[in-house]
Amino acid sequence: MIQTNDTETLSLPVMEHFYTIQGEGYHQGRAAYFIRLGGCDVGCVWCDVKDSWDAEKHPLLNIADLIFTIEKTPAKLVVITGGEPLMHNLNALTASLQNKGFKTNIETSGAHPLSGTWDWICFSPKKFKEPLAGILPVANELKVVVFNRSDLAWAEKYAALVSPDCKLYLQPEWDKAAVVTPMIIEYIMQNPKWELSLQIHKYIHVP
Ligand code: SF4
Repeated sequence: MIQTNDTETLSLPVMEHFYTIQGEGYHQGRAAYFIRLGGCDVGCVWCDVKDSWDAEKHPLLNIADLIFTIEKTPAKLVVITGGEPLMHNLNALTASLQNKGFKTNIETSGAHPLSGTWDWICFSPKKFKEPLAGILPVANELKVVVFNRSDLAWAEKYAALVSPDCKLYLQPEWDKAAVVTPMIIEYIMQNPKWELSLQIHKYIHVP
């Protein structure tokens, strides 16, 4: 597995990159260019991108070439996801993107040290590998994937640890959505600090 820690990471393993609609969380519905980096050691049993786990399966793409491709689209917002993108040092990637005027958002489990400069941090902790404490005060959004009822108590644990202005989302795990969504709706109605996040990209059939 490729692990990059240097501050001059000019190439990154990219599983896929595409221009689409952000389907989840605070920026749901916004046009965004997604870069899905390879590499993840978190091991969620319900992971829907298991092909991302082995970084060595994915080509190393040069950051400049990647940005050249993004610039051919009308994109203003770039979302870095994975995999677990913080397995790589993202300082050079975000500096280059921001230098070109792009907003930089990340989706992370927080299980690796934060790198990069971000306009928005979506922190999505996973039970399978506990997050590091450093992500808690800087998260703009806490998004907890709910697989069963016990995940609600687990979500509250992190809601108590993030900053007071962090947005709070509960999102049904896709394959369990029919079962857990009614439970989440009832929970949000009783605990209105939370909001519902749906993976709308899966309903509208975009990547
Ligand atoms: S952190 Fe994300 S990519 Fe990694 S196993 Fe969990 S769901 Fe999959």
